[in-house]
Amino acid sequence: MPIATVNPADGKTLRTFDPLSDEEIERRLAAADAAFRTYRTTGFEERARLLNAAADKLEREADDIARTMTTEMGKPLAAAKAEAAKCVKAMRWYAAHAERLLADERPDEDDVRDSGAESAKVHYRPLGPVLAVMPWNFPLWQVVRFAAPALMAGNVGLLKHASNVPQTALYLEDLFRSAGFPEGCFQTLLVPSGAIEGILRDDRVVAATLTGSEPAGRSVASIAGDEIKPTVLELGGSDPYLVMPSADVDAAARTAVTARVQNNGQSCIAAKRFIVHEDVYEEFAGKFTDGMRALRVGDPMEDSTDVGPLSSEQGRADLEELVDDALRKGAEPLCGAQRPEGFDHGWYYAPTVLTDVTDTMRIHREEAFGPVATLYRVPDLDAAVELANDTPFGLSSNLWTHDESDVERCVRDLEAGGVFVNGMTASHPALPFGGVKRSGYGRELAAEGIRAFCNVTTVWRG
Ligand code: NDP
Repeated sequence: MPIATVNPADGKTLRTFDPLSDEEIERRLAAADAAFRTYRTTGFEERARLLNAAADKLEREADDIARTMTTEMGKPLAAAKAEAAKCVKAMRWYAAHAERLLADERPDEDDVRDSGAESAKVHYRPLGPVLAVMPWNFPLWQVVRFAAPALMAGNVGLLKHASNVPQTALYLEDLFRSAGFPEGCFQTLLVPSGAIEGILRDDRVVAATLTGSEPAGRSVASIAGDEIKPTVLELGGSDPYLVMPSADVDAAARTAVTARVQNNGQSCIAAKRFIVHEDVYEEFAGKFTDGMRALRVGDPMEDSTDVGPLSSEQGRADLEELVDDALRKGAEPLCGAQRPEGFDHGWYYAPTVLTDVTDTMRIHREEAFGPVATLYRVPDLDAAVELANDTPFGLSSNLWTHDESDVERCVRDLEAGGVFVNGMTASHPALPFGGVKRSGYGRELAAEGIRAFCNVTTVWRG
C-alpha cells in the first residue's frame, strides 16, 4: 500500500510520501536507543510536565488535526474533534496517575519474612523502545492510548502507523517533540508493513503493540515470539448487543444505532451482532431499523453528516462481499445493503440491517467493518449467550436489561474483555481495554496498560 493521503470522500490522492530508507530507519533506531538511556532516569514529575504540555498543544490544535484525520480516513469532523479531546483527557489522566499506578508494591509482612527477607518490594521499571503498529480507524486515539502510558512509564515509542494516515502520523511525532520530549522519545517511521520484521528483530526494540487485523497481529506476534519480546494485541471484534425483555427498548434501540455506526461503522468495539429476546424483538427491530434508515450519509466535513465514507475502496469492497454473500444465502435486508444513491464518488455504503442470518454466512463469523448490523431473534438468555459466544472474537459485549440475574449470568459467561450494561462499549483511561480469543491479548489503559511494558522487578533485601 503506498504511503499517501487519499481522501475517501472523493478518492483523490492529495499527498504521497516516500518510505524511509534503511539508513534513515537505522538513524531512528539509534536515536530511540540513545533517548531511552537518559529518558528512563527522568522522574514522574518531569514526564508529567512534558505530557501535559503535549495535551495542552493538542487541545489548541484539535480543530486542525481533526480536519486532517477526516481528510485522511473519512470520519465525521465532529467525531474527529471528539477523538482529539479524548486524547487530551487520556494524556492528562496518565500524567496525573502514572506515579500512583507504578508505585512500589510491598507484599504482606508475613510473606516477606517467609521469603527470608528483611524487606521486599515490587518495583516497575521501563523496558525500552517499543514498536507501535497502529491502524487508521482512530488515528490519533489508538496511538495516544499507547504513547501516554508508555512515555509516563519511561519507555520510548516508535510508531509504524497505517499507510493511509501519514499526515496524522507525522503530526504525532511533532506533537511530542514540540511539547519538549527529548529527541528520539517518540518517532514516526513512515515505512510499509514489509519493513516491520527488520525493525522488530532489531535488538534495540524490546516490545511491540499492535492494533489492527488478525493477519497483521499474527505476523507481529510470531516475529516477536521468535525474538522473545512481549506483545499486546488489540485485534478485531464482532461485539454482541443483547436486549432482554426487561430492557428499556427505546433507549436500547437508540443507542444501538450509535453503537453500530460510530466512526462510519469502523470500530473494533462497535456492536455488530444484535441479539434480541423474542418478547421485544419486533419493537426493537422496528425502532433500530428506523434509526439506521434515518441516518444522514454524506460529506464527513459537513456538520449534518452522521455517516461518512469508508476509509478505503478495498474496505468497502470487503464489506460489500460480506453483505452479498449473506444475501445470496438468504439473509433479508431491513434497510441498506447497497451503496447509497446520489454518490458517484467516494467510498460510501448505506447503513444496513440484515436479518435471517445463519451460520453458513461469512458475516455470522467475520467482522463487518462498516455500517452493517446483523439482527438475531432468540427465545431466552441461554440462547442469547450461546449465540453471543459463537464467534472467534471476544473484545467487548453489551447487555440491556433491568434484571440483575441477567447481568450476573452475562458477566460469568460472555467470552469478552468487557460487559457494558445498559450502555454501549467505550474506552476510558481508567478502565482496562482489550479482549480474549481472536480479539487479542493483553490490556491497554488503566494500570494494566501502563504495566504492560514494564520490567516488574522484585527487590529483596536480606
Ligand atoms: P491492517 O491490520 O492491515 O492495518 C493495521 C496496521 O497493521 C497498519 O499499520 C498496517 O500497515 C499494519 N500491517 C498490515 N499488515 C501487516 C503485517 N502483515 N504485519 C505487520 N503489520 C501489518 O488493517 P486494514 O487497514 O487492512 O483493515 C483490515 C481489517 O482489519 C478491517 O476490516 C478490520 O476487520 C480490521 N481492523 C481492526 C482494527 C481495530 O481497531 N481492531 C483497526 C483496523 C482494522 P499498512 O497500513 O502499511 O498496511
